Amino acid sequence: MAPLPKKKHSKARTRRGRAHMGLKSPQLVKCPSCPTLIRPHHACPKCGIYKSEYYVNAPTLEKKQVNFATK
Ligand SMILES: [Zn+2]
Repeated sequence: MAPLPKKKHSKARTRRGRAHMGLKSPQLVKCPSCPTLIRPHHACPKCGIYKSEYYVNAPTLEKKQVNFATK
């Protein structure tokens, strides 16, 4: 037989526990080459830059050299 709770949880107790289950908004950082906000450790969806390199099929607009040594 499966374990069963001995007593019913009150609505308040159930909801207090569920207070921590909400969705969090994603953390965003500024793209180093364009003004877009991007997720950390991801390539920029607008200009395609990631770790000082553009991925191969990146959109060509707004491609420019970024000096990462100063950042
Ligand atoms: Zn960008």
